Amino acid sequence: MEEIKLQRDYLKKYNKPFVISGPCSAETQEQLMETAIALADTGNVDMLRAGIWKPRTRPGTFEGIGKEGLKWMTNAKKETGLPVTVEVANADHIEHALNAEIDVLWIGAKTTVNPFSMQEIADSLKGTNAKVLVKNPINPSLSLWLGAIERLENVGVNVLGVIHRGFTEFGDKIYRNNPMWQIPIELMMNRPDLAVINDPSHICGNRTMLQEVAQKAMDLNFDGIMLEVHRDPDNAWSDAMQQVTPQRFHEIISGLNIRKEKGENQQAPEDLHEYRRKIDELDKELLSIISKRMDVVRNIGKYKKSHNTSVLQKARWETIINRTLELSDKFDLNPEFIKIILKAIHDESIDIQEKILNG
Ligand code: PEP
Ligand code: MN
Repeated sequence: MEEIKLQRDYLKKYNKPFVISGPCSAETQEQLMETAIALADTGNVDMLRAGIWKPRTRPGTFEGIGKEGLKWMTNAKKETGLPVTVEVANADHIEHALNAEIDVLWIGAKTTVNPFSMQEIADSLKGTNAKVLVKNPINPSLSLWLGAIERLENVGVNVLGVIHRGFTEFGDKIYRNNPMWQIPIELMMNRPDLAVINDPSHICGNRTMLQEVAQKAMDLNFDGIMLEVHRDPDNAWSDAMQQVTPQRFHEIISGLNIRKEKGENQQAPEDLHEYRRKIDELDKELLSIISKRMDVVRNIGKYKKSHNTSVLQKARWETIINRTLELSDKFDLNPEFIKIILKAIHDESIDIQEKILNG
């Protein structure tokens, strides 16, 4: 078996993503083997995945086949020649996975979030030559993500990279887990040495948006993709809605457009340079306008203080929201995006006036 080459800038180096794929869960020996062989036949896979111990949100669902599945993984590895990875969440899992010579261990989102679990995992990996991938924590905290990586590295564990699978949020939503792309981007800036893999399956929670999320990851120079694939997705024992067939997997991966960081032809950088100059100029203007708006907010704060009126004027805020949303249509801007910006400006305005009224 070839050495695992996953590294930062994999995409740039090999002009293709590092691809990890396989079912959400190992269910039976046959299901795993059939899926693994079909995946290997596509020629698009670098590593096989399957969950053996499954951290399910609600009890009463399939919680994984347990250590018996490790044998199936190593059989699939023998048959396909592909390295294999499973999720581990405690010292017991680690002991079994390392005994079974699983090539890479991944830490799940519901484990990364817990420093006690991460420390237990780090302690039991100390002195081994395990290779590890760390999924983002379920809540949008870059510090928790970095902290989990640091706990592993502090005891000398070889962290190959991270997996971006999105963040939990409440209420109506487009994604199962909000990608919040800014967080993995900041992680890349903080840790330019770590490979970053995108997991469209757990971000989307459905089959329809996988391609566009994977493409976005490629456009942001992610190094790889982790995609859940099942021989019979509709009847999968976990995450049925988001799994795809090996055939669909092949279409998604071959359909990815891999872009060059600096643009294909030599003319492009000049144009790009000009666009970037414009963006810098506009950002400056944007800040200057926000600063002027905050000056007005301060004056209103002084007025409210002298007339002893409350900071929040609900009717006024509603008027502002509605009027701006109407305008966003006119300016061809996404109203959801404008709402987020307005709310952030409104929060800051309230803080400024609070200080004036009380300080
Ligand atoms: C998984 O990869 O099947 C899984 C459980 O993912 P996550 O930790 O991202 O929820
Ligand atoms: Mn899953």
